Order: sequence, then structure tokens, then C-alpha cells
Amino acid sequence: MTKIAIIGGGPGGLMTAYLVERKYKNSCRATLFEATDRVGGKILTNRFDSVPVIYEAGVAEVYDYEKIGPDPLRQLIGELGLKTTPIDGQTIVLNGKLLRNEHEIGEHCGEATLRAIEDFRRLAAAMMPIETWYESLWQDDNEHPWARRTCEEILSEVVDPTARKFLEVAVHSDLATEPHLTSGLNGLKNLVMDVPGYVRQCSIDGGMEMLPRALQQNLIRTRLELNAPVVRVDKNRNGSYRISFRHGRGIEHEDFDAVVIALPHNWLTSIEWGSKRLRRAMTEHIAYYDRPAHYLRISILFRKPFWRSLITDSWFMLDAFGGCCVYDESARHDAGEYGVLGWLVAGSDALSLVNFDDRMLINRAIESLPDELYEEAREHFIEGKVHRWAAAVNAQPGGLPVRDTRSAHSPDTEEHPGIFIVGDYLFDSTLNGVFDSANFATDLLHSMPLLADDLKPDPGKKSATCFLHSYQ
Ligand SMILES: Cc1cc2nc3c(=O)[nH]c(=O)nc-3n(C[C@H](O)[C@H](O)[C@H](O)COP(=O)(O)OP(=O)(O)OC[C@H]3O[C@@H](n4cnc5c(N)ncnc54)[C@H](O)[C@@H]3O)c2cc1C
Repeated sequence: MTKIAIIGGGPGGLMTAYLVERKYKNSCRATLFEATDRVGGKILTNRFDSVPVIYEAGVAEVYDYEKIGPDPLRQLIGELGLKTTPIDGQTIVLNGKLLRNEHEIGEHCGEATLRAIEDFRRLAAAMMPIETWYESLWQDDNEHPWARRTCEEILSEVVDPTARKFLEVAVHSDLATEPHLTSGLNGLKNLVMDVPGYVRQCSIDGGMEMLPRALQQNLIRTRLELNAPVVRVDKNRNGSYRISFRHGRGIEHEDFDAVVIALPHNWLTSIEWGSKRLRRAMTEHIAYYDRPAHYLRISILFRKPFWRSLITDSWFMLDAFGGCCVYDESARHDAGEYGVLGWLVAGSDALSLVNFDDRMLINRAIESLPDELYEEAREHFIEGKVHRWAAAVNAQPGGLPVRDTRSAHSPDTEEHPGIFIVGDYLFDSTLNGVFDSANFATDLLHSMPLLADDLKPDPGKKSATCFLHSYQ
């Protein structure tokens, strides 16, 4: 029986445990170590204090590309019996004006601006056709003409200043960074998500946190250690790995055949990597992807959804905070007569604002609304909540150049063949990416020379190595 340690109880760790159980059924036992008292990581559905209305404090939505081809995350959500609701948005608030459709863009900004926006969207779609976007293999990414240019350089070629601002606002909150800190290709991949036909956004009914909960409930053979942050990983003389984890005020140790590190990039430095060689491999891995990006969420409960006479979308874009997305949380989750807006502030603004207190941030959010909504927002305000996500996402997923998928997931195949990495930052900084990564890493387990004989892929399921082949 092969023993596997999974470090991190966020979506990446839970998905890894789920796949290990399905792919290797009886030949493998996994233990999942989670630092806190809950699983789910950055998927966090919370309630307000004054009224038990829910809102998303972390992950906003699921990207659904089932219309283009097989979508493993959608399949997982279906397998877990979860229901989803599409969420959609078109409105953008620019220079204090509400622009709800192309007609209003033309009317308020002029036909030349509308044409410039449409031209850029057409260019984006031509530079990243749907099939290329869907396949997104690392080799192709590195050869893309926008891979070595910054997103800033690409956007600066839009001559019309209002069109440029429109596009900057549209792309900023998706990137979680500034356009000069990421490649044109990464910007492009995010931008085409607004082009019809590429992707649908949807929310999980009952809250995004239903996903980690369902994953946890479906783990039958995995041992879950909560409040157990892993502090050190060593390799033993016999080739196994020693995990040291905190238990109360003490440290406990346990040996495993393989270790899957399912942590976001910002947590990797919090672990001590035993040998000099492992430390070097992990430091090299960490440095390669060291491009932190930031979010800040401000969620506000109102007596009623006063904005609905003007905005009926599930989310809209605001030119405040360098370009942010505001979700109508009460459009996707039942809030009774109440209304909830959630500001997803991104990039440098999010980072600078983490130093402000909650009251100040809540005021800033209300002040960012256009004149037509501001007075009503003040009048109907009940309660605000702030969640800070500094350095929690990655500004250049995949690395620059994008690293080949196998070495991204195995930091030291020669000396530490049993150490694997799972991370959204290895693909696209999303749940889709972290699921692909978990799929790839759990396929790699089977390719491990020492364990291949022990680990028996479950013949009833999809071949354990199919994912591996599609990414090499
Ligand atoms: C505000 C925000 C909005 C987002 N919106 C979206 C979205 O709409 N759609 C989308 O697809 N993605 C979105 N993302 C990205 C998404 O959150 C990530 O893709 C996903 O959470 C990655 O999962 P993970 O398990 O790698 O990391 P996390 O979710 O960060 O989970 C890591 C877990 O590891 C635990 N941990 C840390 N250190 C240790 C240790 N030493 N030992 C044991 N456990 C440890 C943590 O407590 C945590 O539970 C968003 C991210 C943020 C911050």
C-alpha cells in the first residue's frame, strides 16, 4: 500500500485526494494536511452578521468551457452532484457613465471609441482563436507573438484613449496585477474571456464553498488532518519522505512514499525543505514563479438591491481602483429583500489598500459608485466585510517562458522522484488550472519508477495516464 502525503487542503489538495482515490483505489492511502480548521482555501462563502445572507469572500466563479470541448472541472462539478447558475455581465462604469451595451458606448464615448474597442476585440480573437485558447499547450504559449511583450505594450497600441481605458478596466481585475507586470499573452487570454463563444461564467448554487465541501464528503479513504500545518519535508535514507507537522504546540513526524505539495506559491517558503539539494530545487521552483498578484474583496449588505433599476447584470466593471469587478451577490444567491454588492479590487490597488482599516475601505467602495447610485448606497447600507488576499494569486501563471509541464510538477526527478507539486500558478491561476494540475500530478504518481508496481490504476476509471500524455 503506497502512502501519499498531500500538503494543503485548498481546492488543489482536495482535488488531488479525490483523484488519488479514483485513480488508484485500493493501492494507495492518502493523508491530507491542512494548516487551518477548515478545508477550501481561497474558496470561501461567508455570511453577514446582521442578516444570514451569504456572499463570496474569495473565489468568484467557475469558468465553463464545455461548449468548446471536454471540461474536466465541469465534469467534476457534475460528478459531485452540484448545480450551477450562469452569471453574466456587460455593464461598465467609465468616467462616471454607465455603459450597458454597445449602443450606450457609442452614444457616450463616440462611434470612434466603439469601433476601436470592437477592432481590438477582433484582433484579440484572431491572435487567440478558440481552439488555441482551449488547448493552451506550453510550447505554443512560448511561441506566441505576445508572449514576450507586456500586456501594457499591447494595450498602449490602442490609439483612442477612451477605448484604451475601457480595455484596461476590462482586463485589470482578471489579471490581479498591473498590465506592465504580465505578458501580453496572459492579458490576451483573460481578455478573450469577454468575447462571446470562449467561456461561460457560472456560480455554484448554495455558494462556491459547496465544491470543497462536496469534495471532502466524497473522500472515503483519505485521512484528513486539520490544524496541522506542515513545517518540514525530509527525504529518508530508504527513499521515503518524512513530513513534520504541527500538532497543538508540538511537532509530529510521519513517513510517506510520496508527497504532493498542493500549496499556492506564496505558502511554499513557509516550509523547511530538508536537504541542501531539496532546498535548492524548491528555491529554484519558487523563484521561477515568484510574481505575486493581489486581490481585496469588499462585500456590502444593503437593505435592498437599489441598483437593479439601472443594472440588471450579475456583475459589472468599474473604472475605480484601477479597474475592478463588482458582483451582485444577491443575483446569484438568495438574499430575500436584501441586496449585496461585492467589489473585487485587484493588483497594486489591492496591495496598497490592505493597510487600510475596514471602515475606510467600505467607504471607499461606496464612494466608487456612480452618482446615480451613491446616495441610495449610503441610505441603504447595513454592513460591510473586507477580505484581504495579498500575494494570494500569480501574475504570470506558467512562468516566463512557460515551463514544460513535467518539470513544473516535479522539482527534482532524480533525487526526489516522490515529490510532486500541484498549483493553479502552473497553468492559469484558476480552479480549472489547479484541477488540471492535480490531474497531471496524480498521473505522474503512476510514472514513478519506485511506485509504478505498487500503484494500480483503477481499470474501471479513465486511464490514469491519459492526462499526462495530453500535456507532454
Ligand atoms: C479573491 C480571489 C478570487 C478568485 N476568483 C477566482 C474565480 O472566480 N475563478 C477561479 O477559477 N479562480 C479564482 N481564484 C483563484 C483560486 O482561488 C485558486 O485557483 C485556488 O484557490 C487554488 O487552490 P489551491 O488549493 O492551490 O490554493 P488555496 O485555495 O490557497 O489553498 C491552499 C490551502 O493550503 C493551506 N496551507 C497553507 N500552508 C500550509 C501548510 N504548510 N501545511 C498545510 N496546509 C497549508 C491553506 O490553509 C489553504 O487551505 C481567485 C482567487 C482569489 C484570491
